[in-house]
Amino acid sequence: MSVGGDATGVGRAAVPGCPFCGIVAGELPARVIWETDLVIAFRDIAPVAPVHVLIVPRAHVPDALSLDASHAALLAELAVVGRRVAEAEGVASSGYRLVFNVGEDGGNTVSHLHLHLLGGRPMAWPPG
Ligand code: 5GP
Ligand code: ZN
Repeated sequence: MSVGGDATGVGRAAVPGCPFCGIVAGELPARVIWETDLVIAFRDIAPVAPVHVLIVPRAHVPDALSLDASHAALLAELAVVGRRVAEAEGVASSGYRLVFNVGEDGGNTVSHLHLHLLGGRPMAWPPG
């Protein structure tokens, strides 16, 4: 599915029923810790690590399978905000993990692209 042009979020309507569109719109509560023009970062509602933050495009991009070259700026922003959040949360030097879950085997449950930032404890490899 092509979603070219969504990277800026300009003119892109929120998807009804999407929880992360609801958080972006301020219609659903969230513990927001970082915001830029392109992305928003908030604490996961069910954290699996001492630091568990979701970094989310303001625009509704369904998942990593929807990405193409038009999302280059968005992807850079997600990674850079990941670094900023890691520094702010005190896990930059101890280490952290950035994860996109994709599809059923990947464990994806929310259909609005989100980058997990996990830190504050050692991460096992391979993941479960
Ligand atoms: P996925 O399994 O799709 O990679 O990750 C979805 C994540 O979103 C899960 O870790 C889940 O706990 C989190 N999540 C689902 N709904 C909400 C919500 O309404 N608010 C917040 N803050 N996190 C949510
Ligand atoms: Zn959405």
